[in-house]
Order: sequence, then structure tokens, then C-alpha cells
Amino acid sequence: MTPSLIEFRRVVLKVGSALLVDRARSRLNHAWLAALAEDVAELHGRGVEVLVVSSGAVALGRTVLGFGPGALRLEESQAAAAVGQIALARIWSEVLAHQGITAGQILVTLADTEERRRYLNARATLSKLLEMRAVPVVNENDTVATTEIRYGDNDRLAARVATMIEADLLVLFSDVDGLYTAPPATDPAARHVPVVERITPEIDSMAGGAASALSRGGMRTKVEAAKIATAGGTHMLIADGRPKNPLRRVADGARCTWFLTQSSPSTARKTWIGGALEPRGTLVLDEGAARALRGGASLLPVGVTSVSGAFSRGDAVLLRDAAGAILGRGLVAYDAEDAARVIGRSSREIEGILGNGGRAEMIHRDDLVLAG
Ligand code: GLU
Repeated sequence: MTPSLIEFRRVVLKVGSALLVDRARSRLNHAWLAALAEDVAELHGRGVEVLVVSSGAVALGRTVLGFGPGALRLEESQAAAAVGQIALARIWSEVLAHQGITAGQILVTLADTEERRRYLNARATLSKLLEMRAVPVVNENDTVATTEIRYGDNDRLAARVATMIEADLLVLFSDVDGLYTAPPATDPAARHVPVVERITPEIDSMAGGAASALSRGGMRTKVEAAKIATAGGTHMLIADGRPKNPLRRVADGARCTWFLTQSSPSTARKTWIGGALEPRGTLVLDEGAARALRGGASLLPVGVTSVSGAFSRGDAVLLRDAAGAILGRGLVAYDAEDAARVIGRSSREIEGILGNGGRAEMIHRDDLVLAG
């Protein structure tokens, strides 16, 4: 059984350049995009939180700058992205505004999704936009990302963003309707795979060889994206994005490939916090804070009596009670030095102490895992 689209509460839609930009006529597929915005509005109107990962900056910009066909050098594609991203943001903002939806642009680099400190920042901004019912429109910040430190493809970027914000579904719109046992264009015996429960070496081999500059965004990066998504507790689906209203078509039963996760975003995240990260320090909590945590609250600075260790914002720390028993662990929102200055203080006083509008919580409840 595959899930139904309306079961999800937070969905990431990834749209590739080939769908957005009509290369032959050097312009944007405006009618198609306007129809996709209707699909977004339909989900949004049901209370689903929607986030878009959109490519197209390079494809749009290269035309404007008059670069010919063929591979671009790094600085050429960065210049193209700089020009194209402005247009891309404007178009998304317009088509979503037409549906009564506010769009917000977020450009991220690899480091924003891999380094915990920056990851917390990007996540906080995305969460705030979603809370305000805006639709974040995300792309890689291609103008500053260099070869060594970039994703280069928005499939994997979209998967990282999806797990980072604990989306329960990632939809990759492609120019095929899913995964096949062999390349359908060249192999008449190729069969469509409707559901992937686990990414086995066999599934891996169906995706073909490593991505090259030309096969960027091919099945290879989609299966890599599926590994990231499903490990993070996010279901993923590959659907044909070419027809108008592609999401509605999926909801109506159009053929696609589901990659199902065996986990959920919060379980995957808690496993990660609870196990994979080495704690860098310890916070000792008073009785009231320990109780509040067990009741599902975030940890506020006022409930912390002492701090030890040399941790940075985003690191994992252990939480202990006054007697030394371990209460759990979590990702701390302050560096050790700042944490030591704000403990025992009310959230209202923090800005005065640190001289900036820091986070109200020492550890947000989503970043906490309680022991036993
Ligand atoms: N970030 C690139 C762009 O906006 C696209 C990468 C991709 O095609 O996946 O042009």
C-alpha cells in the first residue's frame, strides 16, 4: 500500500530546470508553472505545509547572458545563476501570489545543511516561514558555491532540506514517471517500479552509473536523494512533472515511484541526537526544569544550574539532574560561553545579557531526547 498525498503534513516539492525552462524557445514555461502553483495552493489550502526546491537559475541566466549550448565553466554558471536567480524568485513570488500565497526565497550552501550550527539557523528560518503559512522557495546558492563545496544537483539538496525540516514527503518532479528496471528509452524489457521499500544494491544498479555534468539530475542523484530522505524518515516519490498540474495527477493515481521510509522524521532525528552525536558538554538542571522536560517542554536557560564542557551552538550535550543522573541529551542553542552567562536567567533578560536577540530556549523540545 502506498500512502495517499493528503496524509502528509509537511511536503517538499522539487522542480527541475528542464520543467521550468523551455530551452528550445529560451523562456520560462509560464503556463505550466502557474498550474503547478494551483497544485501548491490546493495542498496549502488543506493546511499542509509546502516548501518548494526550485532549480532553473543557471538555465534562465545563461540565456539572458547569451552563453551558447554545452557545459559552462564554473564562473560562467555562477554568473548565469546570479542573473537567473532574480528572475526565478520573481516568477515564483508572482505565481504563488496569484494563489494568495506569500513566497520567501532561501538560498543555501552545502555547509548550511551539513554544519549543525548553520543547519539550526537555516532550519529556524524555514520553520518560521512555514509557521507564518508562507511557502519557502529554496535553491542552492550557486553564485558562491564552488565545485568542492556544492551539491550541484537539487535532488540531493531537496532531500537534505526535507530531512532538515522533518518533512514527511519529498516529491521529485522529473521528466520520467519513476524508476525503471533498465533505461526505458533503450531497453524494451524495462519495467516500471512502483514502490521501493528498501534501497538494495539492485535498486542502486537500476539507477545507472555515476552522475556526470550531462546526467546531472538523472536517476542516479534521485536514488541518492532517496537514501538521504528515507534515512531521515521522509518518504520520497518520483513523478512525471511534465504534464500540467502534476501533483493533482499523482493524487488522482498517475504512475510514479514511491521510496518508502521505515522510520518517521522525528524518530530518525531522535535516533541521530540520541546516538550518533558525541556529547560535547553537560548541563545540570533544577527540579522544575527536569519536570517540565518530562512534560514535553523545551529547556529554558532559567532551569539550568551549571554548564560544563567546550561545546558550540548545535552540539549535542548531556542533561543531568542535581544528583548526577542522566535525564537525556539534546542539541544546545548556545555556545558554552554564552550558555554560562544566561543560565538561571529568564528568557526576557537574555537579550540584555548577550546583546542580541538570541533564542529563547537553551534546547528546543524538537532537539531533545529524554533518557529511558
Ligand atoms: N541550482 C541549479 C540552478 O538553479 C540547478 C541544479 C540542478 O539542476 O539540479 O540552476
